Amino acid sequence: MQLRRARLCHDCEEVHDAQQCPTCASETFTFITRWVPVPERRARAVPTTSPEAEVYRQLISESSAPTSARLIKQAIIGATTLGLAGWMWQRSKAQMQKGDSGAPDDGSETGEGT
Ligand SMILES: [Zn+2]
Repeated sequence: MQLRRARLCHDCEEVHDAQQCPTCASETFTFITRWVPVPERRARAVPTTSPEAEVYRQLISESSAPTSARLIKQAIIGATTLGLAGWMWQRSKAQMQKGDSGAPDDGSETGEGT
């Protein structure tokens, strides 16, 4: 007798799986699964783990599968960062050279008499 089909007779406490109690012919019964939960068979067929393990599995598969895409992304980010750094470096260098050369533009245009 399977647990999910087992019934407890209310009159004589016989456990059976029929519509009527085979001992006392009573029709009042309660399924045993009311007190003893039966695990799902389909869930048992596929070995499931905890939700945390599923999250870890997804993380692992994400980190290992698209390696080339990730490399390309990192390369683009690196090139952009290098380009920005070089541009800022050149700009600051030009400003420093401009400052070193001496007179600012305002001072040279003030000569009226010439
Ligand atoms: Zn009975």
